[in-house]
Amino acid sequence: MTKTNKKRAVVALGGNAISMRDKTDTIANQFDNTVASLGSIIALIKHGYQLAITHGNGPQVGNALMRVELARGKAPTLPLYVCVADLQGGMGYMIEQCLQSRLSEEKIKRQVVALVTQVVVDENDPDFQNPTKFIGQFYSKQTALKLAREMGWQKIVQFPGDRRWRRVVPSPKPIEIIEGDTIKCLVDEGTIVIAAGGGGIPVLRKKGKLVGVDAVIDKDRAAAVMAREIEAELLIILTDIDQVAINYGTPQQKWLNKVSLKEIAEHYRNGQFPPGSMGPKIEAAISFLESGGRQVIITSIENGYDAVRGKAGTTIVR
Ligand code: ADP
Ligand code: MG
Repeated sequence: MTKTNKKRAVVALGGNAISMRDKTDTIANQFDNTVASLGSIIALIKHGYQLAITHGNGPQVGNALMRVELARGKAPTLPLYVCVADLQGGMGYMIEQCLQSRLSEEKIKRQVVALVTQVVVDENDPDFQNPTKFIGQFYSKQTALKLAREMGWQKIVQFPGDRRWRRVVPSPKPIEIIEGDTIKCLVDEGTIVIAAGGGGIPVLRKKGKLVGVDAVIDKDRAAAVMAREIEAELLIILTDIDQVAINYGTPQQKWLNKVSLKEIAEHYRNGQFPPGSMGPKIEAAISFLESGGRQVIITSIENGYDAVRGKAGTTIVR
């Protein structure tokens, strides 16, 4: 095994980067998109980083839930947290194999492993009382009501600005990664670990036992917790936009190249980053930098390689 120096990084891949909105979503395309997302990971490895990788699962978990609904009465219903666990395996396998092939092409000797990861959440988290995360397909009101009744869903809501309805689940804050020490040991040895996929399998601690709970954890928040637990200095969030902007989508829009923690925290407080998209990434950046991280890069998959070399993306420093 190649011994590397002690610089550690966490890379978070967006689920939308693997199932792209503008391409037919087939497994073959997911493999191609995954291969295309490896640029920044290869750059980090060449720069001597030890690495943990995490990934989103938004589009994929939507498909998994559709399969569960279509198979009702024929195969046992899978709870959401088992779908998340299954996808950590399926997507973890995909990323693992694509990375192994690429490393072999580059003649780099590093082990790669995907790990099924549980993340502890608090049952008193306000999101359990008032769920906020839209998930799965869109339905007519009638179908949504029927499914909610038959499948025991906690909440359905009319999608904002739309006539269709959607399921809403809790998105509690991640507190601790059960397999955190294992991830750190493996990363320390130079293994590239794919972990906390989809934000991790949400679990509660109940009388000394762990139990899965129907919720989804934001993958950017989970990435920040993982980065803290493995004592990474760098967190890279790869999404579908090249840079972070202030006054995004307005005539006053300004792209950010390099900003300090203080500046970004101020923009965050001023409501510059919406809750469902850029908000969690900025929140993750702030919490990582406040807990000892040195640098966060937010950029697109395509620009990941250049961003690592300081030539693209938005960099936030402590
Ligand atoms: P992911 O699947 O990677 O988590 P999201 O769709 O959740 O991706 O978040 C990325 C999106 O955030 C971008 O496509 C962009 O449209 C949106 N966005 C919202 N506010 C901003 C902002 N201030 N700067 C840049 N992008 C923003
Ligand atoms: Mg997102």
